[in-house]
Amino acid sequence: MLSFDNTGIAYGNKSDTDLKRACYLFRIMSKPLLVKTAKVMFRIAHALHIPFAWAVKPHLYKQFVGGETLEDCLPLVRRLEKYNVKAILDYSVEKIVSEKYIHHPMDEFVMTIDEAAIDSNIPFAVFKPTALCSEEILEKAATGNLKSANERKEANKFRTRVEILCRHAFFKKVRIMIDAEDSWYQSFIDDVAEEMMEKFNKETAIVYNTLQMYRVDRFEYLKSLYERAREKEFFLGIKLVRGAYMEKERARAAALGYPSPIQPDREATDRSFDEALHFAMRHVDRIYIFNGTHNENSTRLLVELMQRYGIEKTDERCYFSQLYGMSDNISFTLAGLGYNVAKYVPYGPVEAVMPYLIRRAEENTAIASQTGRELNLIRQELQRRKKEA
Ligand SMILES: Cc1cc2nc3c(=O)[nH]c(=O)nc-3n(C[C@H](O)[C@H](O)[C@H](O)COP(=O)(O)OP(=O)(O)OC[C@H]3O[C@@H](n4cnc5c(N)ncnc54)[C@H](O)[C@@H]3O)c2cc1C
Repeated sequence: MLSFDNTGIAYGNKSDTDLKRACYLFRIMSKPLLVKTAKVMFRIAHALHIPFAWAVKPHLYKQFVGGETLEDCLPLVRRLEKYNVKAILDYSVEKIVSEKYIHHPMDEFVMTIDEAAIDSNIPFAVFKPTALCSEEILEKAATGNLKSANERKEANKFRTRVEILCRHAFFKKVRIMIDAEDSWYQSFIDDVAEEMMEKFNKETAIVYNTLQMYRVDRFEYLKSLYERAREKEFFLGIKLVRGAYMEKERARAAALGYPSPIQPDREATDRSFDEALHFAMRHVDRIYIFNGTHNENSTRLLVELMQRYGIEKTDERCYFSQLYGMSDNISFTLAGLGYNVAKYVPYGPVEAVMPYLIRRAEENTAIASQTGRELNLIRQELQRRKKEA
């Protein structure tokens, strides 16, 4: 069975200082009360315009973020390349509500596409829908509640922006992924993503949409999407993830009194994720799969399915990916074996990436067993180095 336990391989690219910092952080993140307190403190500091970059930058930011600008990330892209690990530069600015900021993320996303076009170690570009449009408009578009002409214009602007990015990616021959966020506006994003796939995925998958398998409806959605792709003869690009907003989704459903869109338990999410992998590989002639997970079993499953269906390790239809700063044992082991592996490398100014960082901290608290596993592996590696010294 494929093992992810060789810490020499997993952390070969990390200095002792890197590992000690990671150890310290994962220890802190395993304490829910500490994470909660820090979250409240950041919110207060942000509201009162108190600078907090100094507190975050040396640890949390350094662990999970590539840098402030695209250029800052390039040395990391080269370091990863030495280990056959690719990078996906993820401009992680979220929830832009003011129109005056919108052009900046658009420019930045275009720059990431241009960079991917000239750098063979950057296989994808990516963007977040809420960096292009307010959540309010996305939700109104998703629920058929665009009342005023202005609201309809805003929703159209979103569609146009997505199309500009996808068209640019198409001409530059760069694959582009659309991240998934909250379920209450995802149907609008799905529609736009499907329209883009139909336009640009005729020869190969250029546009990828994200499916969060913690949602009860996603496996059925995948099947129906596949049927439409078959009928209309285009390729599907699918980024599979479990989903990062579970608590928020459940809390909103409870507060507003509608059934939770989230699977009843962890096992159901795992089953749905694995079912989607099986389905994608059964239809690998039409589905390109991007396995976005830190879960070792789901990673092993895709490896096994690739073997079962006779898919080469370097086949562009199958990618494995983990977030920068997490699960290097999976990324570096797979890359060492010759599989397509890419790290998602978020970047952006400290204030702008705070929601991303808070999510990472909370996630590492929520999935305590994984944090524990990561912490153990890092400790093992530090001990191994001590013995060897
Ligand atoms: C490359 C990459 C890209 C990503 N892009 C996105 C994105 O666009 N949108 C997005 O939402 N997330 C995204 N994520 C985050 C992802 O959705 C998960 O939050 C994260 O990866 C943890 O899931 P896992 O499979 O890695 O780990 P695991 O530890 O195996 O799974 C943890 C996940 O299981 C689910 N879960 C846990 N407990 C329960 C429960 N009681 N009931 C139901 N489900 C449960 C939750 O989704 C939780 O996050 C991305 C992750 C990666 C690696």
